[in-house]
Amino acid sequence: MIDKAREILRQTFGYEEFRPLQADIIQNVLQKRDSLVIMPTGGGKSICYQIPSMIFDGLTVVISPLISLMKDQVEQLEEFGVPALYLNSSLTPEQYQQNIAKLRRGEAKLLYLAPETLMMDSTRRLLTEFTVDCFTIDEAHCISEWGHDFRPDYRQLAEVRKDFPNAVCLALTATATPRVRDDIQQILEMKDSARFVASFDRKNLLLKVVDKDNPLDQILDFLYTRPDQSGIIYCFSRRQVDELYADLKANDRSVRPYHAGLSEMARSRNQEAFIRDDVDIIVATIAFGMGINKPDVRFVIHHDMPQNIESYYQQIGRAGRDGIQADCLLLYSYSDKQKIQYFINQKEGQEKEVAKKHLYSIIDFMEYDGCRRIPLMEYFGEEYEKENCGMCDYCLKQMGDKQDFTEQAQKFLSCIARTDQRYGAYHIADVLRGSKAKKVLESGHDQLSTYGIGMEWSKNQWIQLSRMLVRKGHLKKDPEHGSLLLTDEAKAVLKGNEQVRGILDRTQTTSPEEAMPRTDNEVENKYDEHLFEELRKLRKEMADEQEIPPYVIFPDTTLMEMSYYYPQDEDSLMGIYGVGSMKLKKYGDDFLDIIKKYCEENNVEERSKVLRKKVKKTQSKQKYELVGEEYNEGKSIEHLAEQFGVKEVTILSNLKKFIDDGHKIDPSGLLAASSLSERKIDEVNEAMEKVGPEILKPVYEELNKSVDYNELRILQLAHIARNRD
Ligand code: ADP
Ligand code: ZN
Repeated sequence: MIDKAREILRQTFGYEEFRPLQADIIQNVLQKRDSLVIMPTGGGKSICYQIPSMIFDGLTVVISPLISLMKDQVEQLEEFGVPALYLNSSLTPEQYQQNIAKLRRGEAKLLYLAPETLMMDSTRRLLTEFTVDCFTIDEAHCISEWGHDFRPDYRQLAEVRKDFPNAVCLALTATATPRVRDDIQQILEMKDSARFVASFDRKNLLLKVVDKDNPLDQILDFLYTRPDQSGIIYCFSRRQVDELYADLKANDRSVRPYHAGLSEMARSRNQEAFIRDDVDIIVATIAFGMGINKPDVRFVIHHDMPQNIESYYQQIGRAGRDGIQADCLLLYSYSDKQKIQYFINQKEGQEKEVAKKHLYSIIDFMEYDGCRRIPLMEYFGEEYEKENCGMCDYCLKQMGDKQDFTEQAQKFLSCIARTDQRYGAYHIADVLRGSKAKKVLESGHDQLSTYGIGMEWSKNQWIQLSRMLVRKGHLKKDPEHGSLLLTDEAKAVLKGNEQVRGILDRTQTTSPEEAMPRTDNEVENKYDEHLFEELRKLRKEMADEQEIPPYVIFPDTTLMEMSYYYPQDEDSLMGIYGVGSMKLKKYGDDFLDIIKKYCEENNVEERSKVLRKKVKKTQSKQKYELVGEEYNEGKSIEHLAEQFGVKEVTILSNLKKFIDDGHKIDPSGLLAASSLSERKIDEVNEAMEKVGPEILKPVYEELNKSVDYNELRILQLAHIARNRD
């Protein structure tokens, strides 16, 4: 059955392979064993019930609280040719009745329902007319009071579930806490239940924390290097959203605001504009994001620090669902921390304690002096073991780049000591720089021994150093006055027992390291941007015509592959990521037209893709068999090496295996690959006759080492091939 599932994955969805756990989950569901799936956003949970729904005879019911997402999901499924319907309160009575009629005519394998719709007697009666094979509960954490989004409606699902005794129960969530996991299984009375927990490490997210200095400039710098990309900027308050929105707008950025203070109309208009690629950037409070499924969000910026690590993770999780690199930038300032602390202090008892714990988890993350993935994964109970993730600010700036600032740190710290730990960084910097500012002169600090000993640095550099010292724990800020206090670590530095090393300027939001390709994905790094733009335009036109989001037609990944492989016909197009048979029929010609025209005008040729999808047609053949067959179709060794992206000797050993399997191959192509003269070739053949062709060393010796092994390998194959005839 899993073969059938794989075929649907390839044929209908156009994906090559299952992601981790997907195959196991689908297998489990198909065997009607209850399953709980815990996977991060973008991990690929939907496929886990969508594919079984196409294999089961009966209906798959999917419960989801996100009404706004249902339409989107059903549209996406329709595009893939998967018959699906939904019932919820957003439908007009007519649409509602129409959908019920369609359901009765057997026009759906998948039915999406809001929990309150399912709870209605009429719906429960309706469902008795059908065999339900799978009962899927999306966002299953809503069932638990321990989750961040408890919904009383969800509690009743356990009861309704008994309406479908033959249905397997599949619960899905992206929430990680063990308490919630147990709750879900217990409340749903899952039998034989298996748990599938995927890794929460989202490898394609680049994590970066910088010091907030001049946030507008910092954000503009960042956006400058990412033209036309979709992104979300999260702010702490509505007022901040409005301000930043106005500032970005004044700087000609394509941007819209989103927060609970806007009318429902304005909110959904702005969200829709973002989803449809009519606008690049949304500036929002945390109210934004739950109901969006946009896979190509390329960046998430936190203008203000998030309240806790769980919501940070959830928010950055909205970036890069398509698996392509996406950037997460957090602007961190001490006063943000104080703001949150202030809010927490308003709370009481248990709630206050929990909030405090959450605050420290995010502070630990932001101030961590090491790979960002370590504290992040640790929070989710995973151990991060890789030495260098290559995708966070720390790992990108290698340890080696850190400079020694011990001397300056000593100057700064001793100046704090001499001013009785009563001043903030600006004043200390002024004293060190020998400033004649009124405050310095009035306090008599121009008489101090540390006055004017720091002329080598700008004021800004001293400020940056103070931030670094706070981050590293040498200094603490007095929460009330903002004055800097020395810690024990500071004393060690002053005594010369400890060094201070680090990166001074942590305000840069872009850096040269980031411009370099970091993924080893050839397509992502080398696709043709001009063609990509043309295809994007076409996609947008087609989407507007049908009033659907562009990504529903094809995600960026598909357009990237098209702009890398330049497919010229339906066969090759079918091999592209995300092109299933339905989409091929619907959009194939239009996209092929553009690609072919582009190739003609620019004189480029198709690159062939090693198609695992094609393998399916020929009953899961091994690579060496494909190599053998293609060779026999007349392709040269050199061509095959390029096509499969391997060295020529690998192709030769594939061919050897192919022959050993009992297949025949045509020796002439091999002889063509040899650079030896005919005379020499005959000599080699004679040697092989004499000592046997199987082991090359004796042949090499027999020829007095005059022919190298590469040539011998080619001729060995030719020799064996000829003797097979
Ligand atoms: P989740 O519900 O876990 O957030 P989705 O089910 O929306 O994630 O999947 C995220 C994206 O990954 C979607 O665009 C989906 O089509 C794609 N996807 C899922 N499984 C695969 C796969 N095996 N190969 C390639 N893409 C996949
Ligand atoms: Zn790292």
